[in-house]
Amino acid sequence: MNSKNYNHAEAYCLMKYKCEKCGTVETLWNSRDGVTPFMINCEKCNEHMQHIDWNADERKTNYIPKIGQRVFIDMPVDYYKVFCRVRAKQIKDNVEGNTDTLQKIYNNLIKEYNKNEPFIIKI
Ligand SMILES: [Zn+2]
Repeated sequence: MNSKNYNHAEAYCLMKYKCEKCGTVETLWNSRDGVTPFMINCEKCNEHMQHIDWNADERKTNYIPKIGQRVFIDMPVDYYKVFCRVRAKQIKDNVEGNTDTLQKIYNNLIKEYNKNEPFIIKI
């Protein structure tokens, strides 16, 4: 595997994840030269899946995902904006002593946007 042309070892790799609880094994594809998480959620039982057999990650730059397969992409700004609305409300409702307006909390969260963060889509 030649990784010197990429910024991340997992660029364009097929990566195997296994659920700690129900044992489901799933292969996700990283569609970009970007980071991927060590843990993701299991669609079957909603517990944690862990990246396994990482030395067997297979780089396939021309890979075509299967229908129903999950794929890592860059964080979509439209998703992030909606997520920040929800998160701002949670902070407003649950964080003791927070006197900031909902708008201010939202504005602070939006500043943290980083398109290089991984996001999972299902094809
Ligand atoms: Zn599971």
